[in-house]
Amino acid sequence: MNDRTDVAVIGGGVSGTAIARELSRYELDVTLLEAAPDVCTGTSKANTALLHAGFNANPDKQKGRLNVRGNELYHERIQHELDVPIEWRGALVVATEEAERPKLESLLERGRENGIEDLEIVDGERLHELEPHLTDDAIAALWAPTAGIVNPFELTVGFANNAVSNGATVELSAEVTDIEETADAFRVATERGDIEAQIVVNAAGLYADIISEMVGVDDFEITPRRGEYYLYDKETDIDVQRTVFPVPSEVSKGIVVTPTDEGNVMIGPNAEEVDDVTEKATTREGLDEVLAGAQETVPDLSKDDVIREFAGLRPAIKETGDFRIRIERRDPGFVNVAGIQSPGLASAPAVAELVVDLVGDLAGGLSEDPTFDPYYSPPPKTRHMSHAERAALIEEDPAYGQIICRCEMITEGEIRDAINEPVGARTINAIKRRVRPGAGRCQGGFCQPRVVEILAEEHGVDETDIKLEGNGSEVLIGDTKELLLAEDSEEVHADD
Ligand SMILES: Cc1cc2nc3c(=O)[nH]c(=O)nc-3n(C[C@H](O)[C@H](O)[C@H](O)COP(=O)(O)OP(=O)(O)OC[C@H]3O[C@@H](n4cnc5c(N)ncnc54)[C@H](O)[C@@H]3O)c2cc1C
Repeated sequence: MNDRTDVAVIGGGVSGTAIARELSRYELDVTLLEAAPDVCTGTSKANTALLHAGFNANPDKQKGRLNVRGNELYHERIQHELDVPIEWRGALVVATEEAERPKLESLLERGRENGIEDLEIVDGERLHELEPHLTDDAIAALWAPTAGIVNPFELTVGFANNAVSNGATVELSAEVTDIEETADAFRVATERGDIEAQIVVNAAGLYADIISEMVGVDDFEITPRRGEYYLYDKETDIDVQRTVFPVPSEVSKGIVVTPTDEGNVMIGPNAEEVDDVTEKATTREGLDEVLAGAQETVPDLSKDDVIREFAGLRPAIKETGDFRIRIERRDPGFVNVAGIQSPGLASAPAVAELVVDLVGDLAGGLSEDPTFDPYYSPPPKTRHMSHAERAALIEEDPAYGQIICRCEMITEGEIRDAINEPVGARTINAIKRRVRPGAGRCQGGFCQPRVVEILAEEHGVDETDIKLEGNGSEVLIGDTKELLLAEDSEEVHADD
């Protein structure tokens, strides 16, 4: 690790990687420090993956303003620059009783005040044509065509790869353990050594309060709020094309039914405050609540065809219910990017834009780097190619003809690409996040051994060194025959 940098960004979620990328537009040395062995392992990996249109956004709150601007930036720039999977499927907020109609009207009004285009209230046949699986009780809906779905893994990896292509450094497995003030900078201690930074940006998600405390800013606390999900097999008969919300309450957007960018249906989340930032297990009660909530708008849903359940934790600041993005300290500079609950994903490019302004303020201005290139093309995806395109690619490299994951049709070539991109995969889950082996019906049962082999080969390490995710998640402990022989000889000795 370098021993100094202009800006240290702590946290490699969607916020930190978007910030690092936006800062790499300027003549600055930028270093992102991430505790995990990959980016996108925190809240950014377990959420509903919606680019909210912003009709529900409160302009008096930072999160409201940044949601609206973020959605705009995804439309105008990000989808073209990073070539990540974003689909503008639109969202329906569905009323099932007359008493809910005024709420639809007030969402429409707020959306129009926020500048959201093409909002309308639909009802009757048109509503059921838009989404045939809707409950017969649906009487009207707010239709927001500018809402989108995104692949949050590929988005976060895309931000990180583009930042590195533009000269930023991403240090993985570099947990920040302490921050100390020197004469004119911060010395940031990580588990892989110290780095001195002129400015520190704290985007540590669920741990943002702990990082902030390290520089003496301790007047807020992160309260984790868990949300649980069911993910359905692509082959399920419930074909939902748009994101379906119930009419929101004062505190929650409600249980959503949504397609994912890969064509699965997903339902969730509920919202439950938990005591600990590690409480990511799903619960029977929570999942029952999710299914019951989803059935209110799409009654045909059941537990049939569910292939996975999971939970994510919102890093909320309970007192304000808002983001806290601001300069906390000057000389040296410290910026908090804390409380990034929903709509943090939808807001990420706007959060990055705001942080660049704050860093510019701290640095007394920034100069653009003329070599900055906003474009990053991820490696090819053979499952989205025509037969002719695939044949041409296989001709170039036969590894694109070797199917490793049969559920998702992922080839050896794609797995090797995922390992060799600028922020390359080092773990089994990092491969899954980038190219999906293990995300299909068999959940890795067939392909995982080959993924381990390829990871070991590309990194030049033993297969027993390959981990699922963080420390302690090794999947192999040795050769079966050798272990059995060792056991036998121990038994012989014991009998002696
Ligand atoms: C249930 C649920 C549903 C949601 N749905 C949506 C949605 O549909 N649309 C939307 O816009 N938003 C949604 N969100 C919100 C969105 O997911 C978050 O706002 C966003 O992912 C936060 O990203 P982040 O980068 O700030 O935090 P994270 O992704 O948590 O990243 C923080 C990173 O900091 C690292 N870190 C922590 N401590 C340290 C340390 N000491 N040193 C180094 N690194 C450290 C962590 O390892 C982590 O990688 C949802 C959230 C949840 C939980």
